[in-house]
Amino acid sequence: MKTKILRLDPQHFLPEDLAEAGEILRVGGLVAFPTETVYGLGANALDAEAATKIYAAKGRPSDNPLIVHIASEEELAPLVKCVPQMAVPLMKTFWPGPMTLIFPKSDLVPSRTTGGLDTVAVRMPSDPIAAEMIRQARVPIAAPSANVSGRPSPTKAEHVVEDMNGRIDMIIDGGQVGIGLESTIIDCTGAEPVILRPGFISQEMLKDVCGHVGIDRASVEKPKEGERPKAPGMKYRHYAPKAEMTAFHGKPEAVAERINALAKADEAVGKKVVVLATEEALPLYSFGEVICVGRRADETSVAHNLYDSLRRCDEMGADVIYSECFEETGLSRAIMNRLRKAAGYRILEV
Ligand code: AMP
Ligand code: MG
Repeated sequence: MKTKILRLDPQHFLPEDLAEAGEILRVGGLVAFPTETVYGLGANALDAEAATKIYAAKGRPSDNPLIVHIASEEELAPLVKCVPQMAVPLMKTFWPGPMTLIFPKSDLVPSRTTGGLDTVAVRMPSDPIAAEMIRQARVPIAAPSANVSGRPSPTKAEHVVEDMNGRIDMIIDGGQVGIGLESTIIDCTGAEPVILRPGFISQEMLKDVCGHVGIDRASVEKPKEGERPKAPGMKYRHYAPKAEMTAFHGKPEAVAERINALAKADEAVGKKVVVLATEEALPLYSFGEVICVGRRADETSVAHNLYDSLRRCDEMGADVIYSECFEETGLSRAIMNRLRKAAGYRILEV
Protein backbone atom coordinates (compact mmCIF):
# COMPACT_ATOMS: atom_id res chain seq x y z
CA MET A 1 0.00 0.00 0.00
CA LYS A 2 1.31 3.51 -0.81
CA THR A 3 1.02 5.79 2.19
CA LYS A 4 0.17 9.39 1.36
CA ILE A 5 1.97 11.99 3.51
CA LEU A 6 0.10 15.24 4.13
CA ARG A 7 2.08 18.09 5.74
CA LEU A 8 0.05 20.68 7.64
CA ASP A 9 0.97 23.66 9.79
CA PRO A 10 -1.21 23.21 12.92
CA GLN A 11 -1.66 27.02 13.18
CA HIS A 12 -2.42 27.66 9.48
CA PHE A 13 -4.54 25.10 7.70
CA LEU A 14 -8.01 25.09 6.17
CA PRO A 15 -10.80 22.65 7.08
CA GLU A 16 -10.86 21.44 3.44
CA ASP A 17 -7.18 20.39 3.75
CA LEU A 18 -8.54 17.51 5.85
CA ALA A 19 -11.43 16.54 3.53
CA GLU A 20 -9.50 13.66 1.94
CA ALA A 21 -8.43 12.28 5.35
CA GLY A 22 -12.08 12.46 6.45
CA GLU A 23 -13.18 10.58 3.33
CA ILE A 24 -10.52 7.85 3.82
CA LEU A 25 -11.74 7.34 7.41
CA ARG A 26 -15.40 7.30 6.41
CA VAL A 27 -14.84 4.51 3.87
CA GLY A 28 -12.90 2.32 6.32
CA GLY A 29 -9.26 3.37 5.78
CA LEU A 30 -6.49 4.23 8.26
CA VAL A 31 -5.04 7.71 8.86
CA ALA A 32 -2.28 8.59 11.36
CA PHE A 33 -2.67 12.08 12.82
CA PRO A 34 -1.10 14.36 15.44
CA THR A 35 -2.80 14.97 18.79
CA GLU A 36 -1.61 17.00 21.79
CA THR A 37 -0.41 13.74 23.47
CA VAL A 38 1.18 11.45 20.81
CA TYR A 39 0.40 10.57 17.16
CA GLY A 40 -2.73 8.42 16.82
CA LEU A 41 -3.64 5.77 14.24
CA GLY A 42 -7.27 6.46 13.35
CA ALA A 43 -10.13 4.42 11.89
CA ASN A 44 -13.94 4.65 11.97
CA ALA A 45 -14.74 3.50 15.53
CA LEU A 46 -18.20 2.25 14.50
CA ASP A 47 -16.86 -0.01 11.72
CA ALA A 48 -15.59 -3.34 13.11
CA GLU A 49 -13.63 -4.08 9.94
CA ALA A 50 -11.83 -0.73 10.06
CA ALA A 51 -10.98 -1.29 13.73
CA THR A 52 -9.60 -4.72 12.81
CA LYS A 53 -7.21 -3.03 10.35
CA ILE A 54 -5.74 -1.00 13.24
CA TYR A 55 -4.87 -4.17 15.18
CA ALA A 56 -3.27 -5.64 12.04
CA ALA A 57 -1.21 -2.53 11.17
CA LYS A 58 0.14 -2.24 14.73
CA GLY A 59 0.47 -5.95 15.48
CA ARG A 60 -1.68 -5.13 18.53
CA PRO A 61 -3.14 -7.92 20.72
CA SER A 62 -6.87 -8.16 19.96
CA ASP A 63 -7.90 -7.82 23.63
CA ASN A 64 -6.28 -4.38 23.96
CA PRO A 65 -9.14 -1.88 23.40
CA LEU A 66 -8.96 1.35 21.39
CA ILE A 67 -9.73 4.86 22.60
CA VAL A 68 -12.60 6.53 20.70
CA HIS A 69 -11.96 10.17 19.77
CA ILE A 70 -14.75 12.73 19.35
CA ALA A 71 -14.77 16.41 18.38
CA SER A 72 -17.75 17.65 20.43
CA GLU A 73 -19.69 16.60 23.52
CA GLU A 74 -22.83 15.81 21.51
CA GLU A 75 -20.95 12.88 19.97
CA LEU A 76 -20.63 11.19 23.38
CA ALA A 77 -24.27 10.20 24.06
CA PRO A 78 -24.67 7.66 21.19
CA LEU A 79 -21.48 5.83 22.28
CA VAL A 80 -22.42 5.23 25.93
CA LYS A 81 -25.22 3.70 28.04
CA CYS A 82 -25.02 6.54 30.55
CA VAL A 83 -22.71 9.33 31.69
CA PRO A 84 -22.00 8.79 35.42
CA GLN A 85 -22.32 12.00 37.45
CA MET A 86 -18.63 11.92 38.47
CA ALA A 87 -17.63 12.39 34.82
CA VAL A 88 -19.45 15.70 34.36
CA PRO A 89 -17.04 18.07 36.19
CA LEU A 90 -14.09 16.21 34.67
CA MET A 91 -15.36 16.71 31.13
CA LYS A 92 -16.19 20.36 31.87
CA THR A 93 -12.68 21.04 33.13
CA PHE A 94 -10.40 18.86 31.00
CA TRP A 95 -12.14 18.40 27.62
CA PRO A 96 -10.98 19.04 25.02
CA GLY A 97 -7.63 17.79 26.31
CA PRO A 98 -5.38 14.89 27.31
CA MET A 99 -7.96 12.96 29.39
CA THR A 100 -9.72 9.69 28.45
CA LEU A 101 -12.84 8.56 30.35
CA ILE A 102 -14.21 5.00 30.54
CA PHE A 103 -18.02 4.62 30.28
CA PRO A 104 -20.44 1.68 29.89
CA LYS A 105 -20.65 1.24 26.11
CA SER A 106 -23.79 1.40 23.95
CA ASP A 107 -24.64 -1.25 21.34
CA LEU A 108 -23.53 1.16 18.61
CA VAL A 109 -19.85 0.57 19.44
CA PRO A 110 -18.61 -2.74 18.02
CA SER A 111 -16.90 -5.04 20.51
CA ARG A 112 -13.92 -5.14 18.10
CA THR A 113 -13.26 -1.50 19.01
CA THR A 114 -13.41 -2.19 22.75
CA GLY A 115 -11.39 -5.42 22.70
CA GLY A 116 -14.48 -7.37 23.80
CA LEU A 117 -15.15 -5.16 26.87
CA ASP A 118 -18.62 -3.78 27.67
CA THR A 119 -17.06 -0.38 28.38
CA VAL A 120 -15.71 2.24 25.97
CA ALA A 121 -12.84 4.72 26.40
CA VAL A 122 -13.60 8.20 25.02
CA ARG A 123 -11.42 11.28 24.55
CA MET A 124 -11.89 14.71 22.99
CA PRO A 125 -8.49 15.91 21.75
CA SER A 126 -7.64 19.62 21.76
CA ASP A 127 -5.15 19.47 18.88
CA PRO A 128 -6.68 21.54 16.04
CA ILE A 129 -5.70 19.08 13.28
CA ALA A 130 -7.11 16.10 15.22
CA ALA A 131 -10.36 17.93 16.00
CA GLU A 132 -10.90 19.08 12.39
CA MET A 133 -10.06 15.63 11.01
CA ILE A 134 -12.74 14.05 13.25
CA ARG A 135 -15.25 16.72 12.15
CA GLN A 136 -14.46 16.03 8.49
CA ALA A 137 -14.81 12.26 9.02
CA ARG A 138 -18.27 12.80 10.59
CA VAL A 139 -17.77 9.55 12.56
CA PRO A 140 -16.05 8.91 15.93
CA ILE A 141 -12.43 7.85 15.43
CA ALA A 142 -10.86 4.87 17.20
CA ALA A 143 -7.18 5.63 17.63
CA PRO A 144 -4.40 3.98 19.60
CA SER A 145 -0.88 5.39 19.41
CA ALA A 146 0.50 5.12 15.83
CA ASN A 147 3.48 2.86 16.67
CA VAL A 148 4.14 -0.81 16.08
CA SER A 149 2.90 -2.53 19.26
CA GLY A 150 5.49 -2.53 22.05
CA ARG A 151 7.65 0.29 20.60
CA PRO A 152 7.82 3.82 22.04
CA SER A 153 4.81 5.93 21.00
CA PRO A 154 5.40 8.40 18.13
CA THR A 155 5.82 12.05 19.00
CA LYS A 156 6.99 13.14 15.51
CA ALA A 157 5.67 12.24 12.04
CA GLU A 158 9.10 10.68 11.27
CA HIS A 159 8.43 8.11 14.03
CA VAL A 160 5.09 7.23 12.40
CA VAL A 161 6.74 6.90 8.97
CA GLU A 162 9.33 4.57 10.53
CA ASP A 163 6.63 2.27 11.93
CA MET A 164 3.64 2.64 9.56
CA ASN A 165 4.85 3.57 6.06
CA GLY A 166 3.27 1.17 3.54
CA ARG A 167 0.80 -0.19 6.11
CA ILE A 168 -1.78 2.61 6.20
CA ASP A 169 -3.49 5.03 3.78
CA MET A 170 -2.28 8.42 5.07
CA ILE A 171 0.01 10.09 7.59
CA ILE A 172 -0.76 13.69 8.53
CA ASP A 173 2.49 15.41 9.51
CA GLY A 174 1.72 18.24 11.92
CA GLY A 175 5.23 18.44 13.41
CA GLN A 176 6.30 17.41 16.91
CA VAL A 177 3.46 16.97 19.44
CA GLY A 178 3.24 19.15 22.55
CA ILE A 179 2.92 16.84 25.56
CA GLY A 180 4.67 13.68 24.38
CA LEU A 181 2.96 11.14 26.70
CA GLU A 182 -0.43 9.42 26.25
CA SER A 183 -3.63 10.70 27.88
CA THR A 184 -4.62 10.11 31.51
CA ILE A 185 -7.20 7.27 31.53
CA ILE A 186 -9.91 7.46 34.20
CA ASP A 187 -12.44 4.70 34.87
CA CYS A 188 -15.85 6.27 35.58
CA THR A 189 -17.81 3.00 35.85
CA GLY A 190 -17.28 2.33 39.59
CA ALA A 191 -18.14 4.12 42.84
CA GLU A 192 -15.40 6.76 42.38
CA PRO A 193 -13.09 7.83 39.54
CA VAL A 194 -9.93 5.68 39.28
CA ILE A 195 -6.80 6.49 37.26
CA LEU A 196 -5.93 3.46 35.10
CA ARG A 197 -3.03 5.17 33.31
CA PRO A 198 -1.34 8.36 34.57
CA GLY A 199 -0.81 11.19 32.09
CA PHE A 200 -0.47 14.97 31.80
CA ILE A 201 -3.66 15.48 33.87
CA SER A 202 -2.24 14.40 37.23
CA GLN A 203 -3.95 12.90 40.29
CA GLU A 204 -3.40 16.25 42.04
CA MET A 205 -5.19 18.18 39.22
CA LEU A 206 -8.07 15.67 39.26
CA LYS A 207 -8.47 15.88 43.04
CA ASP A 208 -8.90 19.63 42.78
CA VAL A 209 -11.93 19.06 40.55
CA CYS A 210 -13.66 16.01 42.02
CA GLY A 211 -12.27 15.30 45.49
CA HIS A 212 -11.16 11.70 45.84
CA VAL A 213 -9.53 9.92 42.90
CA GLY A 214 -8.17 6.39 43.14
CA ILE A 215 -5.19 5.02 41.27
CA ASP A 216 -5.06 1.50 39.81
CA ARG A 217 -2.13 -0.54 41.15
CA ALA A 218 -1.26 -1.79 37.68
CA SER A 219 -0.16 1.75 36.78
CA VAL A 220 2.44 1.92 39.56
CA GLU A 221 3.75 -1.65 39.82
CA LYS A 222 4.24 -4.75 37.72
CA PRO A 223 0.96 -6.68 37.33
CA LYS A 224 1.22 -10.15 38.93
CA GLU A 225 1.22 -13.37 36.85
CA GLY A 226 -2.30 -13.92 35.57
CA GLU A 227 -3.58 -10.55 36.91
CA ARG A 228 -5.91 -8.71 34.52
CA PRO A 229 -5.42 -4.95 34.89
CA LYS A 230 -8.53 -2.82 34.24
CA ALA A 231 -6.73 -1.19 31.29
CA PRO A 232 -5.76 -4.34 29.37
CA GLY A 233 -2.85 -2.51 27.69
CA MET A 234 -1.05 -2.26 31.04
CA LYS A 235 -0.11 -5.94 30.99
CA TYR A 236 1.87 -5.79 27.73
CA ARG A 237 5.54 -4.91 27.10
CA HIS A 238 5.30 -1.32 26.01
CA TYR A 239 7.10 1.91 25.19
CA ALA A 240 10.29 -0.15 24.92
CA PRO A 241 13.53 0.40 23.00
CA LYS A 242 15.31 -2.68 21.61
CA ALA A 243 18.21 -2.63 24.10
CA GLU A 244 17.93 -3.78 27.71
CA MET A 245 17.24 -0.76 29.88
CA THR A 246 17.71 -0.20 33.62
CA ALA A 247 16.67 2.91 35.56
CA PHE A 248 18.22 4.07 38.82
CA HIS A 249 16.48 5.80 41.69
CA GLY A 250 18.44 7.84 44.24
CA LYS A 251 20.46 11.04 44.76
CA PRO A 252 21.79 12.39 41.41
CA GLU A 253 25.46 11.98 42.42
CA ALA A 254 24.95 8.38 43.60
CA VAL A 255 22.94 7.48 40.48
CA ALA A 256 25.65 8.93 38.20
CA GLU A 257 28.39 7.13 40.11
CA ARG A 258 26.61 3.76 39.71
CA ILE A 259 25.86 4.37 36.02
CA ASN A 260 29.48 5.45 35.35
CA ALA A 261 30.80 2.24 36.95
CA LEU A 262 28.42 -0.02 34.99
CA ALA A 263 28.96 1.86 31.70
CA LYS A 264 32.74 1.69 32.10
CA ALA A 265 32.57 -2.10 32.57
CA ASP A 266 30.15 -2.54 29.63
CA GLU A 267 32.34 -0.45 27.33
CA ALA A 268 35.40 -2.48 28.33
CA VAL A 269 33.72 -5.57 26.82
CA GLY A 270 32.70 -3.70 23.65
CA LYS A 271 29.07 -2.90 24.47
CA LYS A 272 27.42 0.26 23.19
CA VAL A 273 26.05 2.14 26.22
CA VAL A 274 23.55 5.00 26.08
CA VAL A 275 22.73 7.04 29.20
CA LEU A 276 19.45 8.98 29.54
CA ALA A 277 20.26 11.91 31.80
CA THR A 278 18.70 15.18 32.90
CA GLU A 279 20.36 18.44 31.90
CA GLU A 280 21.25 19.28 35.51
CA ALA A 281 23.22 16.03 35.90
CA LEU A 282 25.04 16.03 32.52
CA PRO A 283 28.45 17.04 33.98
CA LEU A 284 28.36 13.98 36.28
CA TYR A 285 28.59 11.40 33.48
CA SER A 286 31.91 10.26 32.01
CA PHE A 287 31.08 6.98 30.19
CA GLY A 288 28.61 5.95 27.48
CA GLU A 289 26.88 8.23 24.99
CA VAL A 290 24.69 10.60 26.93
CA ILE A 291 21.26 11.76 25.69
CA CYS A 292 19.72 14.72 27.51
CA VAL A 293 16.03 13.87 28.15
CA GLY A 294 15.14 17.32 29.48
CA ARG A 295 15.45 19.36 32.65
CA ARG A 296 14.64 17.79 36.02
CA ALA A 297 13.29 21.19 37.11
CA ASP A 298 10.80 21.13 34.20
CA GLU A 299 9.03 17.76 34.00
CA THR A 300 7.14 18.80 30.85
CA SER A 301 10.48 18.89 28.99
CA VAL A 302 11.17 15.27 30.00
CA ALA A 303 7.67 14.12 28.94
CA HIS A 304 8.18 15.94 25.63
CA ASN A 305 11.52 14.23 24.85
CA LEU A 306 11.19 10.79 26.44
CA TYR A 307 9.89 8.68 23.51
CA ASP A 308 12.15 10.41 20.99
CA SER A 309 15.12 9.67 23.28
CA LEU A 310 14.13 5.98 23.51
CA ARG A 311 13.89 5.77 19.72
CA ARG A 312 17.28 7.48 19.38
CA CYS A 313 18.77 4.71 21.55
CA ASP A 314 17.63 2.22 18.89
CA GLU A 315 19.07 4.35 16.07
CA MET A 316 22.40 4.59 17.89
CA GLY A 317 22.52 0.80 18.13
CA ALA A 318 22.52 0.72 21.93
CA ASP A 319 23.15 -2.65 23.61
CA VAL A 320 22.50 -1.28 27.09
CA ILE A 321 20.57 1.79 28.29
CA TYR A 322 20.88 3.36 31.75
CA SER A 323 18.43 6.03 32.85
CA GLU A 324 17.76 8.33 35.77
CA CYS A 325 14.38 8.10 37.60
CA PHE A 326 11.79 10.72 38.54
CA GLU A 327 9.44 11.40 41.46
CA GLU A 328 6.05 9.68 41.84
CA THR A 329 4.11 12.97 41.83
CA GLY A 330 2.41 15.18 39.23
CA LEU A 331 3.45 14.61 35.62
CA SER A 332 6.53 12.70 36.79
CA ARG A 333 4.25 9.85 37.88
CA ALA A 334 3.29 9.41 34.21
CA ILE A 335 6.96 9.63 33.17
CA MET A 336 7.86 6.91 35.69
CA ASN A 337 4.92 4.72 34.54
CA ARG A 338 6.35 4.77 30.98
CA LEU A 339 9.98 4.39 32.13
CA ARG A 340 9.13 1.36 34.30
CA LYS A 341 7.51 -0.37 31.34
CA ALA A 342 10.27 0.64 28.90
CA ALA A 343 12.78 -0.82 31.38
CA GLY A 344 10.78 -4.03 31.86
CA TYR A 345 10.43 -2.98 35.54
CA ARG A 346 14.23 -3.01 36.10
CA ILE A 347 14.33 -0.11 38.58
CA LEU A 348 17.23 -0.18 41.05
CA GLU A 349 17.68 1.82 44.26
CA VAL A 350 21.15 3.30 44.80
P1 AMP B 1 -3.14 3.64 23.35
O1 AMP B 1 -4.31 4.04 22.52
O2 AMP B 1 -2.07 2.97 22.60
O3 AMP B 1 -2.70 4.78 24.18
O4 AMP B 1 -3.74 2.55 24.35
C1 AMP B 1 -5.03 2.73 24.86
C2 AMP B 1 -5.06 2.33 26.30
O5 AMP B 1 -6.40 2.50 26.76
C3 AMP B 1 -4.69 0.87 26.53
O6 AMP B 1 -3.89 0.75 27.68
C4 AMP B 1 -6.05 0.24 26.75
O7 AMP B 1 -5.95 -0.92 27.53
C5 AMP B 1 -6.83 1.35 27.43
N1 AMP B 1 -8.28 1.23 27.22
C6 AMP B 1 -8.97 1.45 26.08
N2 AMP B 1 -10.29 1.18 26.25
C7 AMP B 1 -10.45 0.77 27.53
C8 AMP B 1 -11.56 0.34 28.31
N3 AMP B 1 -12.79 0.27 27.79
N4 AMP B 1 -11.33 -0.01 29.60
C9 AMP B 1 -10.10 0.07 30.13
N5 AMP B 1 -9.00 0.47 29.44
C10 AMP B 1 -9.16 0.81 28.16
MG1 MG C 1 -0.03 2.79 22.71
